[in-house]
Amino acid sequence: MSTSPSAAHAGPVGVIGAGIVGLATARLLARADVPVIVFEKESSAGTHQTGHNSGVVHAGIYYKPGSAKATMTRHGVSLLKEYCASRPELPYDERGKLVVARDEAETVKLKELERRSLANGVPGVQWLTAEELRELEPDVAGVAAILSPTTAIVDYPAITRAFGADVIAAGGQVLTSSPVTAVRAAGQDRVEVDTPGGAHVLSRLVICAGLQADLLARQAGDAPAPEIIPFRGEYLRLVPHARDRVRRLIYPVPDPRYPFLGVHLTPRVNGESDLGPNAVLALAREGYRRTDVSAAELARLARSGAFWRLARQHWMTGIREMRGSLIRRAYLAEARTYLPWLTMADVTSAPAGVRAQAVDADGTLVDDFRITRAGPMTAVRNAPSPAATASMAIAEHIVAELAIPMGKTAAHGE
Ligand SMILES: Cc1cc2nc3c(=O)[nH]c(=O)nc-3n(C[C@H](O)[C@H](O)[C@H](O)COP(=O)(O)OP(=O)(O)OC[C@H]3O[C@@H](n4cnc5c(N)ncnc54)[C@H](O)[C@@H]3O)c2cc1C
Repeated sequence: MSTSPSAAHAGPVGVIGAGIVGLATARLLARADVPVIVFEKESSAGTHQTGHNSGVVHAGIYYKPGSAKATMTRHGVSLLKEYCASRPELPYDERGKLVVARDEAETVKLKELERRSLANGVPGVQWLTAEELRELEPDVAGVAAILSPTTAIVDYPAITRAFGADVIAAGGQVLTSSPVTAVRAAGQDRVEVDTPGGAHVLSRLVICAGLQADLLARQAGDAPAPEIIPFRGEYLRLVPHARDRVRRLIYPVPDPRYPFLGVHLTPRVNGESDLGPNAVLALAREGYRRTDVSAAELARLARSGAFWRLARQHWMTGIREMRGSLIRRAYLAEARTYLPWLTMADVTSAPAGVRAQAVDADGTLVDDFRITRAGPMTAVRNAPSPAATASMAIAEHIVAELAIPMGKTAAHGE
């Protein structure tokens, strides 16, 4: 990738957020000899969405052909696979995945997913009849399924730590416990940020702040919309005797009105197996527990027109998800539609994640990735799943758009 030189290059590029997107971006810059500083408010990298997800390398089944999600996922998969292959400590397990239709009506939606998979170039996707599904996974019920043999599982926090180590090895800085408390853009080539350790003058700023992205982008002069609405994703963990009944990742056919994939069964690279995540409104931006409530966040939601428009359109689904969150039996009932053997004795609690889901001013859930520019600032405004899968491709896109002189060509390889 090459970038066109622009005006004065005054100071390093700053990146806010040491999640997988921020560190993938910083890594590309550092390896191209661009001075880079990453600011992370937590004491270590990958603590928020990157450290609380399903660990799936999505193959690109769901996404609208031609969308940023579709193209960056396919490119991101090949970059991530190559990266993990070059580091023996990073597992990349191509378990394969089944998307299961539970009744005839769902086969119509499944056909659309098959069509999208083909359009997106997902390799090896096969349609399975009920008998073929039973042969492959005897403990999964459905009337039909599609098999994606290359869907994989990985350890995203470990990959993120490896990206961080690459940044430092290439001469960049990763400042942990360094929250950015203020951002001031000044012209096209200068932006200042404040941290408790002092102010920094930067030539460019890339905001990859996940759950805090809209607040920081707005300070830096970007539009107020889209806003981030936090959605908690709760998991249940299969106990050891239930874990090995199913080998592949098992997903229901998702509701096309939502960017969420439905409660699914995901084996982890550490041998665990989790069921989830649901999607429940979180009452704090980093509200990992049901009891985490932030008065400031509640006040913000109460003032947010986007939130009320969203709530008006989707209140019934919201109530259903809340019921599943409060009543484990209701949560299991959903999963039992395709894993009929599951009982309360097969599951235990597991840590939740919180999604940074952007919502436009009219209350629409933003489906595609969204990355904006305002002067010297680039902001990742919507990078929900599959942004971990696509992180290295998103990084390429961000770096290309920065338009700064590069010492070397930015490249992922050795
Ligand atoms: C429940 C769940 C399941 C998911 N499953 C998958 C999956 O299987 N596959 C997939 O590809 N994707 C999945 N995703 C999505 C994926 O995890 C995210 O898209 C990805 O991690 C986004 O990375 P990020 O770097 O943008 O954000 P984050 O990982 O959230 O990082 C943002 C960072 O910014 C820091 N920050 C915020 N504000 C400041 C500040 N003021 N100063 C300094 N630092 C700041 C935060 O501390 C944080 O470390 C899932 C997400 C969730 C929540």
